[in-house]
Amino acid sequence: MNEHPLDIDYDRYRVPPGGGFRLSSIASDDTQGMDDKDAARATLSALRERLSSLQERLYAEDRQALLLVLQAMDTGGKDSTIRSVMKGVNPQGCRIYGFKKPTPQELARDFLWRVHQRVPPKGHIGIFNRSHYEDVLVVRVHGLVPPELIEKRYDHINAFERLLHDHGTRVVKVYLHISKDYQLERLRRRLERPDKWWKFNPQDLEERKRWDDYMRAYELALNRCSTPEAPWYVVPAEKRWFRNLVVARLLVDTLEAMSPQYPPPSFDPADYPPASLR
Ligand code: AMP
Ligand code: MG
Repeated sequence: MNEHPLDIDYDRYRVPPGGGFRLSSIASDDTQGMDDKDAARATLSALRERLSSLQERLYAEDRQALLLVLQAMDTGGKDSTIRSVMKGVNPQGCRIYGFKKPTPQELARDFLWRVHQRVPPKGHIGIFNRSHYEDVLVVRVHGLVPPELIEKRYDHINAFERLLHDHGTRVVKVYLHISKDYQLERLRRRLERPDKWWKFNPQDLEERKRWDDYMRAYELALNRCSTPEAPWYVVPAEKRWFRNLVVARLLVDTLEAMSPQYPPPSFDPADYPPASLR
């Protein structure tokens, strides 16, 4: 199939199950040699149309769901990816949820309790802007729970995602890959623009100081939780047009493989010729 002029190979960004993956093996500014932004724009818009029609089928079929998990460091582009890729998709069939610091009610339960409630129902595309992975990332970096418990969470996560898969929810996980230098550039830009101040949190600078710890925590999570049922993709995210193409393509191909079908009518159309309606 070559309906899209720009053919992106995203398989090279998939973290192989079984470990041994290093973040340094993928350049965060990779574009696979492409530089034609006009072609990228045209391709993205074709992909969005495809996404929109696949999503309508998914909704009509009402038997399967798709969950996109988005993780990134601050300024990695999670919000902007959602905005760009999902533009034009019927909001009725989408559930987007951003996970913040857990509330006392949430902390009183196991870490997956709040997450399970937010998974997309059948027929929907769900997007997690941050996710249960925070519970092995920020929680690990800051030692918010005992290490023995964090250690068990990778298995808990894999079992949870397998459960979703077995019940008809396809899980795709994307880490938006940026470098520490790129983050600095983005943070500076954020502070130069009053309309972006709302996105800045002085705490982001504290997290930045722990960049290496975060990268180690990410590598661990990517290696231990990239499974055939719920693979992780490390998407180069510094060229935003390229990042959008990869994520859109991934969603379109996943939905195509799910092959949602319009349900058969609950009536015999021969009994209702349109011209006979009064
Ligand atoms: P933002 O996405 O910029 O609105 O920030 C949300 C903040 O909530 C980030 O600093 C996350 O690290 C934090 N957060 C999300 N989930 C958790 C969690 N399970 N435990 C601790 N902090 C979390
Ligand atoms: Mg933030």
